[in-house]
Amino acid sequence: TVSKILVSACLLGDKVRYDGAGKPCLELLSFLKNKDIEVHKLCPEMLGGLPVPRIPAEIDEHTDKVLNKSGTDVSKQFLLGAESTLKYCQNNEIKIAVLKSKSPSCGKDRIYDGTFSGRLRDGAGCTARLLMQNGIDVFDETELEKLEIKLKE
Ligand code: SF4
Repeated sequence: TVSKILVSACLLGDKVRYDGAGKPCLELLSFLKNKDIEVHKLCPEMLGGLPVPRIPAEIDEHTDKVLNKSGTDVSKQFLLGAESTLKYCQNNEIKIAVLKSKSPSCGKDRIYDGTFSGRLRDGAGCTARLLMQNGIDVFDETELEKLEIKLKE
């Protein structure tokens, strides 16, 4: 059977990041090649209505708000992106996702700490968190071995 996997668009090289670049992951690209996998790619922040490029944002640890580096609250867009991504998965019966590590949307266990100083803390980005809460198995691009095992289940 074909496995459907949601993938962060930037990991496939799409130029959707805040800085207008992509973040192609060659290991992931070759992992996905020649496998019975249906790849669905999207960028939650774009789905939430944010432009490319955009001012970088981080989640404030104390308030859980998403603030961009200029201090604007972009929580609404991040939440909309997360909800739209979940809906997309549910509509397409996608139960596995590979999301970009460390992103305030896509990071699954470590994210920037909200001080824009490059420091990481434990925690998940808005989209990764919502998907995991709804039973979707989330991996990041460094966890392809775990993903391989999951696909064999
Ligand atoms: Fe990549 Fe996710 Fe950030 Fe979009 S929101 S650029 S898919 S890490």
